[in-house]
Amino acid sequence: MASARIPMVAGNWKMNFDHLEATAFVQQFARNLKSGRFDFSKCEVALFPAFTALRSVQVLVDADNLRIRYGAQTVSVTSQGAFTGDVSADMLARLGCSYVIVGHSERRKYHPEDDANIVDQVRAVLAAGMQPILCVGESLEERRKGIELDFAVGQVHDVTRDLSDEEAERLIIAYEPVWAIGTGMVATPQSAQDAAEAFREHLASTFDDHVAQMVRVLYGGSVTSKNAVELISEPDVDGFLIGGAALHVDELTRICMLT
Ligand code: PGA
Repeated sequence: MASARIPMVAGNWKMNFDHLEATAFVQQFARNLKSGRFDFSKCEVALFPAFTALRSVQVLVDADNLRIRYGAQTVSVTSQGAFTGDVSADMLARLGCSYVIVGHSERRKYHPEDDANIVDQVRAVLAAGMQPILCVGESLEERRKGIELDFAVGQVHDVTRDLSDEEAERLIIAYEPVWAIGTGMVATPQSAQDAAEAFREHLASTFDDHVAQMVRVLYGGSVTSKNAVELISEPDVDGFLIGGAALHVDELTRICMLT
């Protein structure tokens, strides 16, 4: 990472931690970061609890004036009404969410979230004043065929092509090769860099250089404190979207301190 972009460590808790566990985690995490003299002006830290824990996290963050940010793992594309089970972007914004993860490969796989739906989620998140973390990344099949960069850039293109420059510069992209998620198989720093660089080149040609330089590109897929330093040393890698390691408060603290 080298530029004016502020790095980011994002912990995606997926379907883990009820509101009590989330509360205990945030309290310990805040203590850890404080005793490590973590500098929030040099790195943004965000947690992504399940919907049921968001309010508890908000209360804690507000009460203790914590600089930890938080967001949701998905969002409805509709704004209100008869949509049983859905949660709107405005509801999340009113809970103090800064970000929403959009298009995670688990959402694409287990729910009918296609590109059209993901575009609408991105727009809903932006319209509510939050930032989308758009997840893209190839499966093993595309990687074996050697088309991983074309595939991931294509995913970025399909979702972003109709955005305005002002909308596009608020995007955060998470490069998450599907084969690396939860497997212990991490992408090499070079392949994370290649993808991040390819996204930036694509953004520069679709929008302009300013947008390409503003958008943060995170890497996700089996990130731990053992591989974080090498990955963040790459010039276009701006931080991490972390699953498994984000469930362990000391490990997540270590990654923050190293980023
Ligand atoms: P992982 O998950 O860190 O457990 O590989 C990353 C993610 O799914 O965002």
